[in-house]
Amino acid sequence: MLTAEDLNSVLNQSLKELHLPTVRACYEKEAQRARQESLGYEHYLAELMELEREERRHRRIERLLRESKLPLEKNLDTFDMKRLPSKVAAQVNALVEGSFVDRTENVLAFGNPGSGKTHLLCAIGHELIQKGRRVLFTACSLLVQEMLIAKQDLRLPRLLKKLSKYDALIVDDIGYVQQNRQEMEVLFILLAERYERGSVMITSNLPFSKWERIFKDPMTTAAAIDRLVHHSVILELNLSSYRLEQSKKSKRG
Ligand code: ADP
Ligand code: MG
Repeated sequence: MLTAEDLNSVLNQSLKELHLPTVRACYEKEAQRARQESLGYEHYLAELMELEREERRHRRIERLLRESKLPLEKNLDTFDMKRLPSKVAAQVNALVEGSFVDRTENVLAFGNPGSGKTHLLCAIGHELIQKGRRVLFTACSLLVQEMLIAKQDLRLPRLLKKLSKYDALIVDDIGYVQQNRQEMEVLFILLAERYERGSVMITSNLPFSKWERIFKDPMTTAAAIDRLVHHSVILELNLSSYRLEQSKKSKRG
């Protein structure tokens, strides 16, 4: 017969080895509660497992959030959905459910500066993370620079592979900075690489009709648009600038 002390040490050792830190931290307190409430063995076990699962889920989401580089404050709680046209609001409600990444669909948000494109895609990104998906947020210009450097160092395939691990890649402000041919090329490679393999979420101030500025020649432009649009949800934010409206409001108020 094991003494209480032996039992604790065996349990501690096992729980350590099995990587169940939450069970290890909680089992004594929970056992006391179970005795008080006359819970059965299975019930006690179920509660401990639930605690471990909950804690793991929590830690995973924190990790995904850190890894995503999403601005924390640009989430759905801080986003005023009432500003959206009802069609876009309905699209967003469907997107936050998350299954579009399983279908590797893309999301393209268009609209003038300040209309909320970046905030909206970030908010969708946050919702995806809450559902346990991997998301990366990056400014298009930064991503392009990173890819160019990788290409110079013959690491572009490795970088593309790293990016392929994300369920959704948010590429903010495509076409915002004029790109040279080399920059355009790596961007095109990325889009081609992700086509039907992973979702891309893009914001742009430029309508498709002006995308030749990004991809330089008509053929490449058509090919890029074709791949992006094939399975996609297009969010048209034909709204006035939120910033402008807020500053007008605060002056009035
Ligand atoms: P865009 O990317 O279209 O230029 P942003 O997403 O950067 O616009 O939005 C500009 C500013 O206005 C940001 O600070 C953003 O948080 C805020 N904003 C825009 N739309 C909304 C909204 N519907 N609800 C709350 N804040 C908004
Ligand atoms: Mg923006």
